[in-house]
Amino acid sequence: MDGTLDIGGVKRMARFISTCFLFVHVAMLAIFWHCGVTPMVYFNIGSVIFYALTFALIHKGMLGLYTDLMYVEVVAHMACAILLTGWNSDFQVTLVGMSAVVFFAEYLERFLGIRHAHALPLCMLGATAYLSTCAVSVLRPAPYSMPQTVSLLLRLSLGAVVFAVSTLVLQAFVREATRSEKALANRLMHDKLTGLPNRYFVTDYLDKLSKSGYLNRCWVALADIDDFKRVNDTYGHNCGDFVLQSVAHLLQENLKDAQVCRWGGEEFLAMGIIGDNLESQLELLDRARRAVEGQSLWYEEHRVAVTITIGVATYEEGFTTSEWINAADKRLYEGKKAGKNRVVSS
Ligand code: GH3
Ligand code: MG
Ligand code: MG
Repeated sequence: MDGTLDIGGVKRMARFISTCFLFVHVAMLAIFWHCGVTPMVYFNIGSVIFYALTFALIHKGMLGLYTDLMYVEVVAHMACAILLTGWNSDFQVTLVGMSAVVFFAEYLERFLGIRHAHALPLCMLGATAYLSTCAVSVLRPAPYSMPQTVSLLLRLSLGAVVFAVSTLVLQAFVREATRSEKALANRLMHDKLTGLPNRYFVTDYLDKLSKSGYLNRCWVALADIDDFKRVNDTYGHNCGDFVLQSVAHLLQENLKDAQVCRWGGEEFLAMGIIGDNLESQLELLDRARRAVEGQSLWYEEHRVAVTITIGVATYEEGFTTSEWINAADKRLYEGKKAGKNRVVSS
């Protein structure tokens, strides 16, 4: 599940859980057989068949139903085991592990947009079964008893399994939620066509910088492709997209020390540090402009020639982010009026 959470990954996880539960019930079957608790032997034969059948549910992608049924099976197993053999073996502890499992399952199933389990009602069912089992066992003693050593072993192994399952599931939940939030934030902050950071990213970035007081020695530049509408009109929108990608690439290549983003449409914003003097930075921006001008862009046997105009503004005390960018936009406008394909600064 590195990049995107997919149904294949969740199915693999479900198959792993079913396999573990199947083996747990085979072990339980042997234990109850050994202790002569015949009704629980039958119950566990049913459970083994049930978990074998869950592979079909998983295969069909019915993961919500799978989670619901699995939870009901665990609750029923817990209630029957306690009513028949008493509380000494700690069967009730399995509900704790299952709560973590069903909430994580609901989260994953919701994320995948498939019919999902309803963890809250399921846990309420678990709590009701637990409380009613308590009440019944007070009124009616358990008809079977397990040897103390078996009860102790069950206690220890159920406790260990539940602790391991809850920890792993909750850890996976935190990891998955964080990964998915980061992926979404990354998607939100990047332009799909050019792969450059977008306007959200750069305004956030500038706001953070302005709070840290580092803006005094910075410049911003707005670069706009000249007569871009004509490219679209002459060669089509796909060619326009190709030109946008190429210009984005050239700007990044030539302004390695600056932060370049797609500001919107056919406009790019670059931001950098003045360094020794502004002149050297303006020279870099002009080099980027010349690189675009000199680049032969070939699209379906057409040579598409494009140029860019760049407006540059250094930071002035008291500027808000938008005032600063507007200052660069003003220079850009002057450049367009003066004949395009140039760098204009204050
Ligand atoms: P100027 O030299 O004055 O900047 O003229 P221009 O034609 O570049 O500017 P104008 O604002 O008239 O046109 C910009 C065009 O950019 C219009 C719009 O359809 C196109 N455009 C904006 N975003 C995209 C995009 O993602 N892909 C493509 N192919 N075209 C886009
Ligand atoms: Mg424009
Ligand atoms: Mg333009």
